[in-house]
Amino acid sequence: MDQIIIEDLQVYAHHGVYQQENEKGQNFYVSVALETDTRAAGMADDLGLSTNYGVVCRFLHTYLTEHTYKLIETAAEKTSEALLLQFPHVRRLTMEIKKPEAPISIPFGSVSVKISRGWNRAYIACGSNMGDRKAHLNAAVEALLTDNKCRVLRVSDWIETTPYGGVEQADYLNGALSIDTLYTPEELLEKLQGIERQEARERKERWGPRTLDLDILLYEDRVMNTEKLTIPHRDMRNRDFVLKPLAQIAPYEIHPVFGKAVVQMLEEVEQDGEKHVLLN
Ligand code: ATP
Ligand code: CA
Ligand code: CA
Repeated sequence: MDQIIIEDLQVYAHHGVYQQENEKGQNFYVSVALETDTRAAGMADDLGLSTNYGVVCRFLHTYLTEHTYKLIETAAEKTSEALLLQFPHVRRLTMEIKKPEAPISIPFGSVSVKISRGWNRAYIACGSNMGDRKAHLNAAVEALLTDNKCRVLRVSDWIETTPYGGVEQADYLNGALSIDTLYTPEELLEKLQGIERQEARERKERWGPRTLDLDILLYEDRVMNTEKLTIPHRDMRNRDFVLKPLAQIAPYEIHPVFGKAVVQMLEEVEQDGEKHVLLN
């Protein structure tokens, strides 16, 4: 992707672990590389279509002087997040904060922290088979819409499905949605579990009846497997009730392990797999 680069913007600020640093202040130098598509602005010669680096410089200066942090790690983290929230065309960024006057008793050139942050595309499966199913699913969308670290992009239709996993229970309403998010996968899982709890989800048996179930299907092209989190969702290829709504909003998204598009996986499960989607 194209980049807009600002190097060594000088900001006199008060970040530091020592009280003396907070009181007196010192110079920090901030560099950012903003990943953004400059093609439209470049072709039209129109600043309105781009991200104004002058405005970004003032934004960085104001943010870093109006806040005081102990660590430049925190300064970089918070400033990056604020910048991503403020400038909608910026998809990712790398930020380096240098502190050449840091209190170290040995001569040195500079110390710095450099981080990369950005919006991440994620796909979420949602399901409900207790109470007002539609209201629970809509509440999940609403909760994500009101979180500024998530941008809801597309929401599928809610479809009627039969339960999975051989547990005797009521039919489900299932759907899928796509978001861009600043959360890491672990933070996103926590956020989703918070929304489940808000809808009075009780965790009893796996695959048991529930007011709301929110699973992370895909997160960028990330592949991970920890005790808490498996991405892509480990069983998505076997579930027509997941793939059907996902295919409605992201038919050609590729599964990073199987290398197959969503429509292709759906076709396979519709041919050879269990059938849970009820035809209306
Ligand atoms: P399944 O995961 O097979 O759809 P389930 O949704 O009924 O079953 P839950 O009881 O909701 O299972 O979740 C059990 C645990 O699964 C969660 O506590 C969570 O830590 C873990 N988990 C692993 N990978 C994921 C994922 N991609 N999305 C959501 N939860 C996950
Ligand atoms: Ca699930
Ligand atoms: Ca779940």
